[in-house]
Amino acid sequence: MGRVPGELREAVTVVSQVLPFRTNQYVLDELINWDNIPDDPIFRLNFPHRAMLDDTDYATLRDAIAAGDKGQIALHAGKLRQQMNPHPAGQQTHNVPELDGKEMSGMQHKYSQTVLLFPQHGQTCHAYCTFCFRWPQFVGDGELAFAAKDAQGLTAYLARHREVTDVLITGGDPLIMRTNTLARYIEPLLTPEFEHIQNIRIGTKSVAYWPQRFVTDRDADELIRLFERVVTAGKHLAIMGHYNHPAELRPDIAQTALKRIIATGANVRLQSPMLRHINDNAEAWRELWTTGVRLGAIPYYMFVERDTGARSYFEIPLVRAYEIFRDAYQRVSGLARTVRGPSMSAFPGKVLIDGTPTIRGEKVFALQLLQGRHADWARRPFYAAYDPDATWFDQLVPAFGAEKFFFEDELPLPAAEARELTVVGA
Ligand code: SF4
Repeated sequence: MGRVPGELREAVTVVSQVLPFRTNQYVLDELINWDNIPDDPIFRLNFPHRAMLDDTDYATLRDAIAAGDKGQIALHAGKLRQQMNPHPAGQQTHNVPELDGKEMSGMQHKYSQTVLLFPQHGQTCHAYCTFCFRWPQFVGDGELAFAAKDAQGLTAYLARHREVTDVLITGGDPLIMRTNTLARYIEPLLTPEFEHIQNIRIGTKSVAYWPQRFVTDRDADELIRLFERVVTAGKHLAIMGHYNHPAELRPDIAQTALKRIIATGANVRLQSPMLRHINDNAEAWRELWTTGVRLGAIPYYMFVERDTGARSYFEIPLVRAYEIFRDAYQRVSGLARTVRGPSMSAFPGKVLIDGTPTIRGEKVFALQLLQGRHADWARRPFYAAYDPDATWFDQLVPAFGAEKFFFEDELPLPAAEARELTVVGA
């Protein structure tokens, strides 16, 4: 904190009572450009800012801290967290699979092919992102109870669900775990019993926040050998690399990490939400995708920032996100055009913004679901009325005077409520 000027330091102290804050020496020394704070994108990504709370709330908390009133601090911070939609889409309550009538903790099964696993020891990160959509678990909000303590539930469930081809191990950051702990979740999936599991994905930001994980950590070589075993067992291993800005790919060690992972036969896919103050410009995406492709990674998703946490600080109108996506897409080689976006992980599925055409005199959002709660919803074009200020799917209404979107009759919830919900997901 020594390098952070006084007024910014106060904001970190105050805002971090509500939203989690953690950094590390690598982020401080290699990723943040201290000549450019507070506007440096990685500083914005990692350090809490005053504007993430409204003025009155900020002042109340600041005064409680100055008075040393722990009760008031806890009370007010708790109230503010509740106002920040801590569990978008009932992520604790929807998509939780059951086996013999018992809920499987630490797992989600939304799309038929893919099961998500949240291992208990992977529910933290090397540093925290200020936009994080899983922030409540870092402030002791009980979500850890939701994490899987071992692989037994996963293997029991997968043994009965032969339709599942993909397991996504996610967090937090599963690569915060030591290799031998991670291996306890992965190794069982390499046995003949789980032949139907073809793809193992690991969602991680270690590639950006702690590339030492793959290069110089005590068990980095062991981790690389684990990746090799997965590939040798005939599985596709996909490292879902959370890169929010090209600065994360500039250090030599970050590039070495990427190359070491890819040399195992694994793929690295690049994904990130678009975030105001951090990457809301086409050049940032162009550099990220171009560098990634040169190093052997695959651009995968540009997401729309979720409706949780300090969303008002980061959100961007959907139309602007679409324009930036298109601008960046036009600047890159065909090899980088594997990227999809902007995409909203909303309750019905992954909603892709395809454009803003004018049809029969009405300007609309052209949309489609890349993944849907029902398989046959995918890739069916549908339309929402154009709204230049909308920042999330729940603010959109059907175009052409229609009363509902095509999928709403089949949702397990009333349409309006369903549109408001979002889920945690791949
Ligand atoms: S790495 Fe992912 S889970 Fe961890 S703080 Fe950042 S966004 Fe949240």
